[in-house]
Amino acid sequence: MVNDKVPLHEEQWIEELAIKIFSDIEELTRDKIGISRESYGTGEALGINYLINLAEECDFYIEKDDAANVILSLEKSIETNYILVGSHMDSVPQGGNYDGLAGIVAGFLILANLKEKKIRTSLPVKVLVLRGEESAWYGKNCIGSKALFGLLSLEDLNSTHRTTGNKLSKAMDASGAKLDVIKKSIPIINGQKIEVFIEIHIEQGPILVDKDWPIAIVTGIRGNYRHHKIRCKGDAGHSGTIPRYLRKDSVFAGADLITRMDDHWNTIEQHGGDLVLTSGIFHTDVDNQAMSRIPGEILFSFESRSQDVSTLDALEGLLRSECKTIERERGVHFEFDNVIKSDPAECNQEVVEKLLDASESLGFSRVSVASGATHDAAIFSNQGVKTGMIFIRNDKGSHNPDERMEIKDFMKSVSTLNKFINDY
Ligand SMILES: [Zn+2]
Repeated sequence: MVNDKVPLHEEQWIEELAIKIFSDIEELTRDKIGISRESYGTGEALGINYLINLAEECDFYIEKDDAANVILSLEKSIETNYILVGSHMDSVPQGGNYDGLAGIVAGFLILANLKEKKIRTSLPVKVLVLRGEESAWYGKNCIGSKALFGLLSLEDLNSTHRTTGNKLSKAMDASGAKLDVIKKSIPIINGQKIEVFIEIHIEQGPILVDKDWPIAIVTGIRGNYRHHKIRCKGDAGHSGTIPRYLRKDSVFAGADLITRMDDHWNTIEQHGGDLVLTSGIFHTDVDNQAMSRIPGEILFSFESRSQDVSTLDALEGLLRSECKTIERERGVHFEFDNVIKSDPAECNQEVVEKLLDASESLGFSRVSVASGATHDAAIFSNQGVKTGMIFIRNDKGSHNPDERMEIKDFMKSVSTLNKFINDY
């Protein structure tokens, strides 16, 4: 237990350091419209090199792992378990400055404060600067964190860049990753040594703004079940001549299905379940669709996300059984693709409670939310590392140049993390 009298969010010099790092990296990685820090590419390297230079000035110890992620700490060699704080440096093309970077700057500030005040925490702190979290560049997400645990497949490494067609393996090699090691699919980090992993991240949804919460503790990261292509087949026909009872209209059948699933969503939510549903693709055949034609076939996608596997399983069952009912009632036929499943990741309950305690003791709200978006933290959690996350209020969403995080809100998240580490 460390006696750190002044809460970190009230330390002016820490806030000034935060503003400096954010604006310097923004300046370095700005493109015409927003911020571009390409995964294993130029902008990401500019941000990382800036941080390495600053870490040298601060006399931090700097390491690079075999996936070219960077680790900062205050001691040359750490033998004991340690607290790991981190997030990703890359951004989507023409994205915002805070997605990912906020979690890295937070870790940097924690180290700077410990160094300045010569505080020794019961467990040492390492800051992890991850690469390649955004799937926008190579169609694969969490590349740097997956590599840590030997989870990158040859297929992943062969994935190609969105515009140049170059392979990910080539970009990783150019960034200094050791591909001969990565290709062995063995862990390059000892997960047993990580006492706890904490990621601070801007919220990418609207809840914290809506509730007027500066920060919130994340309970878990939603998994998803995805159907990319479900086909509903009916009978095409003249829109004026066929009475309702003889129609096999695929659009009406699909719309009926979505309405039924929306009712189930509402019921599950009213009973306290965590769920979001989306049908982001829903269309008739462009080659033969017409105002006066009863649509004979539609194609649609269906995605469910939840923190709870049993909710996802139940939803999948409901989807199938509603289709059977609609087939009987409307004379249509549904054809399913294979469902692609991505498991939810739970934040560690004890870590969540400790983060809530830290937040409350600093006078902030004791509130929690689920994460709808995927984060590096999910990789750590699913590898059995005790994991926690703090969200920062962020107006205007994310993955766009307008994302807006207030520095005062950010400082509250850093202060909460600092308290958590000092009390650990
Ligand atoms: Zn992110």
